Amino acid sequence: MISFDINSIKFLKILSDSTHKKRILTGIRPTGALHLGHYVGALKNWIDLQNQFDCYFLIADYQALGDHFNDIDLIRGSVLDVTLDWMAVGLDPDKSSFVIQSYVPEFAELSMLLSFITPIGMLERNPTLKNELDSLPIERRTVGFYNYPMSQVADILLPRAHLVPVGEDQAPHIEMTREIARKFNRMFGEVFPEPDTLIGKVGRLLGTDGKGKMSKSSGNVIMLSDGEEIVNKKVRGMFTDPNRIRSDIPGKVEGNPVFQYHDAFNPDKAQIEDFKKRYKQGKIGDVEVKIALANSINEFLNPIREKREKLKSNMPMVEEALMSGIERTRIIAAETIMMVREKMKISTYTK
Ligand code: AMP
Repeated sequence: MISFDINSIKFLKILSDSTHKKRILTGIRPTGALHLGHYVGALKNWIDLQNQFDCYFLIADYQALGDHFNDIDLIRGSVLDVTLDWMAVGLDPDKSSFVIQSYVPEFAELSMLLSFITPIGMLERNPTLKNELDSLPIERRTVGFYNYPMSQVADILLPRAHLVPVGEDQAPHIEMTREIARKFNRMFGEVFPEPDTLIGKVGRLLGTDGKGKMSKSSGNVIMLSDGEEIVNKKVRGMFTDPNRIRSDIPGKVEGNPVFQYHDAFNPDKAQIEDFKKRYKQGKIGDVEVKIALANSINEFLNPIREKREKLKSNMPMVEEALMSGIERTRIIAAETIMMVREKMKISTYTK
């Protein structure tokens, strides 16, 4: 039996609730504060999931080292920013466990142990990893980066997660996790559930430049923490249909980020339909569509901004949210590692 300090009833309640719920592990790398793409592609779904499952939300700082090993300051600064964004959008540390990867050393230990039963071919064949490596300059292709799917396998298996909500590009890593869980259980005895993938229904949110997905490195983001004026400015400058040099020319709605954002953030579906219809007919100007969009995004962001400001004035509470999640993860991590070591008969050489 593992002992730990219990200093709140709430804590006990979470532990007892969590025992009969299926467990979820998912995460984000702390490489900056979060943007609308993160909301659409991940957070929105997580907010629903936290009510049905025992969720572990990981701030994957080790994984961030993969392509930011020379920018620790960015990672350091982003951990609390990510936490603030999580709480501001409605992730609740009383329902779920927030955890920083490097605060639970068992993530690294499990990754190392599992690497011994993982054939190199699994990484060599991983299509997502292959693409990412191809786009990295040679001096950034480190062993650590190459190994990140392995570390992701350990992230999922350490809390013995049953479900992993991810984007489609991450699906090969989950398949690898299932294979390794199966192999471990077969070789040493049952420890890990074979986790299922929960692929989100939403696609990638385009960047404001319409060139590809919204991502900080492309400089095409609207941050969850952007103020009203910044949002207005970014929306005004958004890419739309480039062939539409006058508002009486029929425009294209498909693949147009302005309409993708309307679909995501404007709750007035009738207005969207009307805009789309008139846009295709050349009966509405971009300015009108963009002003309505900026208003919708600002309305969506207003309560998030308010909550973020409130949280910012009480950072000890934000840190406490992290620490309680880390504490809960440490308990389950110690349990898993104990089982793994016992099954593998590692560290059992002396009495
Ligand atoms: P990251 O750790 O920054 O790569 O992002 C974490 C997760 O956020 C990704 O796995 C996606 O699920 C989601 N995400 C990030 N950017 C976007 C985007 N532009 N559109 C949709 N989802 C996104």
